[in-house]
Amino acid sequence: MEREPISEMSVSPPRKPRPELPEGPYLVVGLARSGCAAARLLADRGEVVRGVDSGHPDEAAGLAGAGVEVVLDTDGLALLDGTRTIVKSPGVPREAAVIAAALDRGIDVVGELELGWRGIPNRFVAVTGTNGKTTTVELLGHLYRTAGEPVAVAGNVGTPLSSLVGGVDADATVICESSSFQLEDTVAFAPECAVFLNLAPDHLDRHADLDAYLSAKLRVFANQGNDDVAIYNADDPALAGVDLGGCARRVSFCRGAGPDCEVSLAEGTIFYDGEPLLAEDELGLLGDHNVANAMAAAAAALSMGLDREAVREGLRSFAGVPHRLEPVAEIGGVRFVNDSKATNVASAVVGLSAFEGGVHAILGGSDKGESFAPLADPVGEVCVACYLIGATADRLAEDLAGVAADVEVHRGKDLEDAVRWAAVAARPGDTVLLSPACASFDAFENFERRGERFREIVESLS
Ligand code: ADP
Repeated sequence: MEREPISEMSVSPPRKPRPELPEGPYLVVGLARSGCAAARLLADRGEVVRGVDSGHPDEAAGLAGAGVEVVLDTDGLALLDGTRTIVKSPGVPREAAVIAAALDRGIDVVGELELGWRGIPNRFVAVTGTNGKTTTVELLGHLYRTAGEPVAVAGNVGTPLSSLVGGVDADATVICESSSFQLEDTVAFAPECAVFLNLAPDHLDRHADLDAYLSAKLRVFANQGNDDVAIYNADDPALAGVDLGGCARRVSFCRGAGPDCEVSLAEGTIFYDGEPLLAEDELGLLGDHNVANAMAAAAAALSMGLDREAVREGLRSFAGVPHRLEPVAEIGGVRFVNDSKATNVASAVVGLSAFEGGVHAILGGSDKGESFAPLADPVGEVCVACYLIGATADRLAEDLAGVAADVEVHRGKDLEDAVRWAAVAARPGDTVLLSPACASFDAFENFERRGERFREIVESLS
C-alpha cells in the first residue's frame, strides 16, 4: 500500500454535516444505560418515544418521568404497530424477535451510536477492536487534554454517546468507544477518524462467526470519505489482506520498522513518520499490549492534527485506566498493580506478560468454567508466587500443579489475606499483581468493586 505524505495528513479534517435523525415515532429496545440515554434524548426533543425491555433493568426507572412510555418484561412485538424507527441497544441481538419482526415489516432499525453521532456535529474519533478500546479512548482523551484541545469521551463504560447530544462544546472532538454491537447497527455513521485496534475471537455467541464479527467492526470505516482517516493495526493477522472498505486515508501502526507504517516500534522507540516520538520505556502504561494501544492513540492524535510535543508528553504522563494494569502504590520498593478487569484467562495472560519477573500474582474469583491451563506458562515465567482465592481456587491449584517448582503456590482466605501475605513476601523490585483471570461475583458486586477493595487494602498497608 502506498504511503500518504504526512504533511497532507496532519490537518484536522473539517467537521461534516450529519444526516437528520431518522423519523419517529420511536421504539427504543433495551433499556440499560445506552438505551435509556437514547430514549431521553428523543423525549427531550419532543419526539413520541416508547421504550421496551424483556426484563426490568434498574436504569429504566425514571424514564417515564422524562416523557417516555415504558413497557417492561415483554418482547415488544405488540409495540411495533405505530413505530416508524427502532433504536436498538447494543445489548439486544439482531435475532431478537422484535428486531427480526421490525426488519420484516420494513421498520428502520438504528443503533444508539448512529443516533448519537447524528445528533453531535463535532469532529468524531471512533475506536473499535476486540481489546484495548477503553484504554485507547481514555488515552486519546488525555492526549487532547494535554494539548489543551477540547475533548469529550464517550463509550461503553462511561458516558453513553447519546447523553452528550446538545451538551458538547462545538470545538470539542468527541472520542467514542465503538463495539461491534454498536457498529452493526450503523447506517450512515462516518467518523472523521476511525481506529481498528485488533480482532480476536470473542463474542462469537452473538456474531455468527469471525467473518460476521469482522464485518460488524469494519462498519467503522465503511462510510468514511476522502478527508477522513482510517487507522489500523498492520500487525494483526486478522486484518492482513482484508479490504478495509470506505475511502479514508489509511494510516497504520506496527511493530518493527514496517516501511508502510506511519507509526512503528523499532529498537525500543516509537517512531512517527520516520522520526522518533518517544522511547517505549517512557510510556506511562505497562505491557506490550499497551504499546500497541499507545501507537494507535498516537496515530489518531497526530493524524487529527495534535501537536507532536503534546502527544509525546501525554504518552509519558498517562498512568492508565483504573483496574487495567493500574499501578496503585509503591511501598518499600514493591509495586502494587490492580488489573481487576482481567476477568478471563486471556486478559490475565496479557496482564502477567506485562512483567519480566518478580510477580506475586493474586488469582481466582467466580467460576465461568474456563480452563486455567494457559496461565501455567506466563506464571512459570514471571511469578515468584501465586495466591489463589475465591470459588476457583481449587481448579486453579489443579491447573497450575505442573508449574515450575520455584513458583510458590499458596491458598489465600480472601483478597485481603492474599494481599497481606504477598506484601510480606515481596522483596524490593517485586510486584504484587491482582490479575485474577476470573470474574468477581463470588465475593464482589463487580470487578470495579474488587479493584477498589484491592486499593483500600494496599493503602492500609502503608
Ligand atoms: P476493552 O474496552 O476493549 O474491553 P480495555 O482497554 O478495557 O479494553 O482492556 C481490557 C483488557 O484487554 C486489558 O486488561 C488487557 O488484558 C487486554 N488488552 C488491552 N489492550 C489490548 C491489546 N491492544 N491487545 C490485546 N489485549 C489487550
